[in-house]
Amino acid sequence: MPDRPPLFADRAFQAVTALLIVNVAAFLVQEGTGPLWPAPVNWLLVIAVIVPALVLCRRVQTDPGSAPVVRRYWRTVEVGISLFVGVTGLRVLAEAGVAGWLLPASVVLHILGGVVLTWPLIGLPFSARDRTRMVGVWLDLGTLSAAAGLLVWHFAASALFADGRVTVPRVLAAATIMGAGLNGVYLAAKVVLAGVDSFARRGLYWIGASALIGGLGSAISFLHPHQPDGNLLLLVLPFAAFAAATGARTQVVDTAAGARSRRAPRGYSLMPYLAVAAVDALVLLHNVRGTGDGLLIDGVAVTLTALVVVRQLIAFRQNDALLARIGYEASHDMLTGLANRALFGERVTAAVTRSGPDEPFSVVLIDLDDFKTVNDTLGHATGDALLVHVAERMRANVRPVDTVARLGGDEFAILFEGAAGKDVERMLVRIAAALLEPALVDGRPLTARASFGVADGHRGDDAGDLLRRADIAMYEAKGRGEGGYERYRPEMETRGAERSRQAAALRTAITEDQLAVYFQPVVTLPDGRITGAEALVRWQHPVEGLLGPGAFIDTAEETGLIVPLGVWVLRAATREAATWPGEPTVSVNVSARQLREDGFPAVVAAALRDSGLPAHRLTVEITESVAVGGGATTENLQGLRDLGVRLSLDDFGTGASTLSLLASCPVDQIKLDRSFVPDGGSDAIADAVAQMARAFGLQTVAEGVETAEQAALMTRLGYERAQGFHFARPMSAADLRGRLGAATALSS
Ligand code: C2E
Ligand code: CA
Ligand code: CA
Repeated sequence: MPDRPPLFADRAFQAVTALLIVNVAAFLVQEGTGPLWPAPVNWLLVIAVIVPALVLCRRVQTDPGSAPVVRRYWRTVEVGISLFVGVTGLRVLAEAGVAGWLLPASVVLHILGGVVLTWPLIGLPFSARDRTRMVGVWLDLGTLSAAAGLLVWHFAASALFADGRVTVPRVLAAATIMGAGLNGVYLAAKVVLAGVDSFARRGLYWIGASALIGGLGSAISFLHPHQPDGNLLLLVLPFAAFAAATGARTQVVDTAAGARSRRAPRGYSLMPYLAVAAVDALVLLHNVRGTGDGLLIDGVAVTLTALVVVRQLIAFRQNDALLARIGYEASHDMLTGLANRALFGERVTAAVTRSGPDEPFSVVLIDLDDFKTVNDTLGHATGDALLVHVAERMRANVRPVDTVARLGGDEFAILFEGAAGKDVERMLVRIAAALLEPALVDGRPLTARASFGVADGHRGDDAGDLLRRADIAMYEAKGRGEGGYERYRPEMETRGAERSRQAAALRTAITEDQLAVYFQPVVTLPDGRITGAEALVRWQHPVEGLLGPGAFIDTAEETGLIVPLGVWVLRAATREAATWPGEPTVSVNVSARQLREDGFPAVVAAALRDSGLPAHRLTVEITESVAVGGGATTENLQGLRDLGVRLSLDDFGTGASTLSLLASCPVDQIKLDRSFVPDGGSDAIADAVAQMARAFGLQTVAEGVETAEQAALMTRLGYERAQGFHFARPMSAADLRGRLGAATALSS
């Protein structure tokens, strides 16, 4: 927030303040000692306060930060205040005895000025956002106006009829007083209750103060126009001008500071209560002193009490609505409107305690398959729309007694009350079919496949346990990879437990350096010269010994540990490769999951920088499923290319390779999967891949070459590089360093 300039750092504002002090001092001194100078001078002093106040009104209008409503408001205020220069000018002439009609003329102009100043305040919109709140604001205003009206009447206007005679001039005078007083109170209240975002809140308070002082002060001073030693207006006008000037200055200062009026949703305002207290005080005063207006005072007191009670009832209703909303939000998922995890847990707990011995129920956990791909490739908006759609289909296919919940992400749950076994299965089949039916989501036909895990519940079960069992069953279903459902069986525990044990151990392995990188040389064909090596991770397990990736990569993928593991391998491999003599490249396997991470290129860049390995000596091996991933993946692939890193399509031929993929995905190399390296059988695929690679200008690597015959065949088919047991097995970093030092060709 920019700095707020000090309120006083303005010449005009300093002048208003100084002149207010002069006016007050002059008034008080003359009140005590009698006139210091001819009466017109006092009125000239008032003009002196009003003029700099006008300057400040102008400042708000020319301030570039002022919103149009703010400018319009202060333009009207400026006009109104200008009229008071006229009012005061007429008073100067009247006091100088120029003409008899000048005084009434000044009163008329005074009232006109009041109307002009009132006008824009009436137009101030209220900040209330709904009808109930608006009614509350009106009730508050009614309470205040009734109390103010009574007070002005009692203390000011009623004196006009003290002798019991009612004449037209008296009624007019009383109406003027009442009007001015009420207006001041109404406006002050309105300003406090109103809220306009473009107006500085502190400024509005000053406007309210100005209205109150001006309105009420004018009313009282009209009643006693000729105080013995001075006119009350000599105080009222300077104070009102000062308050208006402060409002203007505050508006400018707060606009500069970027502070806007911010209305907290106000449950109540103190003002109506103050009004009631004031009227109650009058009731007491009346009873003690026995002044007139008894019926009127009691009547207003009763009315006010009624208004405040109604107001209170409305507030209670608002509170109830608010509480209901808070309760709903705390127990429901805002995106889909389904129950949330908390409410679902409550319902399951209720089912556990309520259901009879032969009244079964079922807890089902549901996870969408491949939802992440939808999110990544089509964006979060489509992802959200799909979730809403899934929620609707689920809700449409359960009975009213069942609870459908969204637990978070793409995880849903259903509580089937009083149903188990085949009944539940039938409903799940129906839901799965409904999800698979294509639906237009965000203008795209989409289907959702889901995995379901079912746990049977009985009276006395632990609710948390039931959810966990359904979760285990769901992972079991997901593990099969084709949607569908699994019912929880105790044997599943051991497999699931094994998986989480391994995940924990693997986490330790990463942080405690139990991992190692092995390297398998990549050679050129036909001469078998080492041109690079592929980094392959190993786990030096404290109990089970050296483990290959087959033993733990799947767990790493499922748990997300593949991300830190991959970073570890990347850093170790680049660090090692930077020490190799000559220019051999190092290939690092990167999983789909890693490539979906935001900022993956930055991780690679950091590894290159820290190791000192030039980018062109690093090849990132990706599988075809990654290449079609889209979303953040595409961006990351481009980011890697921008770094100068080479990309290789691994296990080529096993995935979704298509010509269009090769044309659109920016790779440098393809690695023919070892299942297509001919072993006595047909070489048609190996041949076709080589020709295709040539057409696209890509380098070719034959993987899994185990014999001299295969090496010769791949050479003949045009493969430029090879990797396999025939040349070398994956070996430790130290062994590879020895080989590179010897710099001899591997058996070709
Ligand atoms: P891959 O990327 O296809 O790696 C080549 C695998 O083939 C290696 O198995 C290697 O030992 C094996 N291989 C090499 N030559 C021959 C041969 O002539 N005959 C046979 N039968 N096999 C051969 P490894 O080291 O067990 O790696 C298995 C897979 O684990 C790798 O397949 C790769 O997908 C994954 N992997 C290894 N290290 C990492 C890593 O750091 N990150 C990621 N994300 N995945 C890795
Ligand atoms: Ca590989
Ligand atoms: Ca491979």
